[in-house]
Amino acid sequence: MNILDELNQVSILQVAEDLGLEVQRHRMKCPFHEEDTPSLVLYPHTNSFYCFGCAKTGNSITLYSEIKHLDIKTTINEMASEYIVGFQKYKANNKKPLPKINVLNVPEIRNIQAKEKLIAEIHSQIYEAFRDFCLQQKSNETSQKALEYLKNRGFTEKTIKDFRLFSIKDYTEVTWYLKQRFSYLDLQESGLYNIKNNLIFYSHTLIIPYYRNGRIVYLQGRVIGKPAEGTNRYCFLNNQPLTLFNADSLLKVRTGETVYITEGAFDCIRLVQEGKIAVSLGTANIFKKEWAKLFKRVNVVFYLDNDKAGHKAADELEKIFTHYNISCTRKNLPNEYKDVNDYYTGKLGSNEQLGLF
Ligand SMILES: [Zn+2]
Repeated sequence: MNILDELNQVSILQVAEDLGLEVQRHRMKCPFHEEDTPSLVLYPHTNSFYCFGCAKTGNSITLYSEIKHLDIKTTINEMASEYIVGFQKYKANNKKPLPKINVLNVPEIRNIQAKEKLIAEIHSQIYEAFRDFCLQQKSNETSQKALEYLKNRGFTEKTIKDFRLFSIKDYTEVTWYLKQRFSYLDLQESGLYNIKNNLIFYSHTLIIPYYRNGRIVYLQGRVIGKPAEGTNRYCFLNNQPLTLFNADSLLKVRTGETVYITEGAFDCIRLVQEGKIAVSLGTANIFKKEWAKLFKRVNVVFYLDNDKAGHKAADELEKIFTHYNISCTRKNLPNEYKDVNDYYTGKLGSNEQLGLF
């Protein structure tokens, strides 16, 4: 049983009726904004809805979760019990009554996969809505500073565009928008919002999106320029597993080609700008063993930071890769350069150290 597929088959008209919503000729008054005439339209052939008044959109599952104010986990569980015949049977066949069926507890791997797939899909939707909204905001002082900063680090406009780097121009506006579109719980689970419902990238207004198969799967924020005392330069999503940056480039790589592995995303971006193939780990001390198989066919060159953490990470990575029979070498930066980007920018030390930015 694939719960997600089955739930997607459930008629949105049925769901709306069961939720007690008044529908006439596939139209109803929008529950997401105040109105006197119905402008929310239900589309039974795709089981989706769209409000012409407030632009709220979604499918049967989001309608259910929004109206009942439930997180996705509970929504799937409730909807499965209500609409999927096999799911009821599954429960009935269990002699011991299950305390409360959670999709996670159903001993069918496909259900877990379906659930994970759905969660990942919702997170990508949140990240992409966040990016799209930020990109269409009018440029202002923040975005100009971000652009200037990137150019000072040696990035061309093409590179900035190719990697779809963006900045948060108006914090309040984007938060208002995302809270209209997504539930607080989903926003928190995506790691973009903390438990106080605040956007985590408050000081980190320059955003680096991580893509997999063209979808955003992770976000990293950076302070524009020099961070304030006590603030880290980078901010990573709450409770979300870090993933490889620029991993999609591995899909296009030919057997035997050289792939550079860097620490920071900016180093990776820089190498790509210089015509090389590169991915980045995000930080020196995280490498997941399952990533190793992605590099089976290529020549790996570690090009990590010129500091203790970088050297130590290179030692450990070499061990892991050798264990998996992946050919790898190490490239060391000349002493006076801290990281790959500094090297290419050709400046002594890092810009931050020099206090330039
Ligand atoms: Zn509406």
